[in-house]
Amino acid sequence: MRVYPPDAKWHEMADGGIIPQAGNALEYDVSGWRNMHPVRDDDACIHCLFCWVYCPDNAIVVKDEKVVAFDTKHCKGCGICAQVCPKDCITMEPGAEMDED
Ligand code: SF4
Ligand code: SF4
Repeated sequence: MRVYPPDAKWHEMADGGIIPQAGNALEYDVSGWRNMHPVRDDDACIHCLFCWVYCPDNAIVVKDEKVVAFDTKHCKGCGICAQVCPKDCITMEPGAEMDED
C-alpha cells in the first residue's frame, strides 16, 4: 500500500475505486465475500417474491414466478432476504458454502 504525506494533493495520488465498464457485475464471482449463507425451506415458501424484490445483489433466482434457487456466485450473505421473508423460511447459516436452492 502506498502511503502519502499529509500534504499530498488529490491529483498526486493514484487512481482508485474506478469501475471502467458499467454493468459488469455479472462477470465477477463474489461468493468469497460472504461468511454467512441463506438456506430456504421450500415447503414453507409461499413464493411472495419479497426476497427477490429486496435482494441487493439480484441473487434470488425466479422461474415461472416461483423462487427456484440462489445465485451462489453473486449472493454476498447480507441476510436481507431472511429479514424480509414473511414466513421466516430463510435462515442464515455460518460459512460461505451454499446450495443453489
Ligand atoms: S420472501 Fe420467503 S416466502 Fe417469500 S418468496 Fe422469498 S423465501 Fe418464499
Ligand atoms: S443473503 Fe443477501 S445477497 Fe444473498 S440472497 Fe439473501 S438478500 Fe441476496
